[in-house]
Amino acid sequence: MGLMNWHANVSGSPGKPIAVVGAGIVGLACALRLAQSGAAVTLFNDASGAPPASLGNAGHIATEQVVPIASPAALRSAWDRLYWRGGALAFRPGDLTTWLPFAWRYLRACRPATCEAGTQALSGLLDDALSAWAQLARDLHMPHLVQDHGHVVVWESAATAAAGQRQWAQTPIGRARIMPLQAEDLSALQKRVSGDIHSGIYFNNTGQVSDPIDVINSLKQALHRLGVVTLDTQVTRIEASREGFVVHSSKLAAQHYAQVLISGGVGSGALMQTLGHRTPIIAERGYHVEGVIPAWDATTPVVFEDRSLIITRFGQRTRAASFVEFGRASSPPDPGKWRRLHRHLQELGLRFEGPVSQWMGARPTLPDYLPAIGFSRRHPGLAYAFGHQHLGLTLAAVTAQRLALAWLDPAHREGLKPFDIERFAG
Ligand SMILES: Cc1cc2nc3c(=O)[nH]c(=O)nc-3n(C[C@H](O)[C@H](O)[C@H](O)COP(=O)(O)OP(=O)(O)OC[C@H]3O[C@@H](n4cnc5c(N)ncnc54)[C@H](O)[C@@H]3O)c2cc1C
Repeated sequence: MGLMNWHANVSGSPGKPIAVVGAGIVGLACALRLAQSGAAVTLFNDASGAPPASLGNAGHIATEQVVPIASPAALRSAWDRLYWRGGALAFRPGDLTTWLPFAWRYLRACRPATCEAGTQALSGLLDDALSAWAQLARDLHMPHLVQDHGHVVVWESAATAAAGQRQWAQTPIGRARIMPLQAEDLSALQKRVSGDIHSGIYFNNTGQVSDPIDVINSLKQALHRLGVVTLDTQVTRIEASREGFVVHSSKLAAQHYAQVLISGGVGSGALMQTLGHRTPIIAERGYHVEGVIPAWDATTPVVFEDRSLIITRFGQRTRAASFVEFGRASSPPDPGKWRRLHRHLQELGLRFEGPVSQWMGARPTLPDYLPAIGFSRRHPGLAYAFGHQHLGLTLAAVTAQRLALAWLDPAHREGLKPFDIERFAG
């Protein structure tokens, strides 16, 4: 199906002009599906800061992660995962007033019944995530952007392998399937690293993108071809008016739109609040280091679960990513996290050649670890798609598909009910 005829599958048309706020992976994918459906889309994106999570992520299409991180199991393991105990979980002391209220809401969302409902809801999206990506890549005429080769999880000791395998065996994984890692794959992996790899498992029906930067650029080019204009400015406030919305921004005069989609990652919270929607979003910050590691020629992402470390190869470059650090998006990065990443790689005998880049960015996370996708019940014409936490890359294509369908045909809105932002209103 080509770029121009995607809308042939859906009835109606969004018609009126739409301002889409945020050109991360979620905003771009949504803007594309809306523009293909005949909408007059204008993108607002603040490109003045550091690259967003959509560029810095690990590139993993993680369809197996159907259980929200707000779960009894994640809560039980939190102590062992703390940063100062060698794990990846950190709380910025200076940002206590940000993460404490979030932690309280998170604890409530970890109740078994809430987690079970969340698993159902996330499964409903993740089951179609890979096929939605494949469809999007085909529509962009760039099928190579999506690689459905699965991924690998390994452990470095017998004890952690036994515990890890037991945990995965009990955990719902949607349409993904687990197989033992074949002896030859294990030995190939062992040859790449100097530490001991005890054992591993292989997941299929998961994958990776060829490179997050290529995906973003391909979406931007497709939007450009469809005549979508991107305005590099920060939206400071959105005001509901009788005709629609007035979009105020840092660099431009106020502009009027009949409809608005808020998809600005962690920046969505402030805009939603000004429109009366309680939005307890937090920056769940992650870090990566990236460069050329000649020894690393793995063709799928590899998760070193004992280290909470994922290594993905994008073309000639290899990216190692980790950490969940709760705080404010604007707080400075902690260089200790990059040092820890380098130490992991050193212990694994993986050496960079040439320049190495370091990055920190924020996952947009809501306390129940479900995204917010839907239509405002307070302001007709206002839609939202944000809060995709660890799964924004994975879920971008399916989010865009579902949102555009629901925009065109309200009968599809029912399916978005679990992601309604009003769940935080009480
Ligand atoms: C280390 C790390 C590894 C990750 N790995 C994976 C992975 O392997 N797989 C996966 O699925 N997910 C992964 N994620 C999560 C994923 O990257 C995010 O969920 C996703 O990028 C969120 O996309 P987004 O478009 O919602 O937000 P963002 O990428 O944050 O983009 C939002 C955009 O909106 C703009 N914006 C915000 N507010 C405003 C405003 N007021 N006005 C104008 N513009 C605005 C921002 O400038 C930005 O350009 C990872 C995240 C991290 C940090």
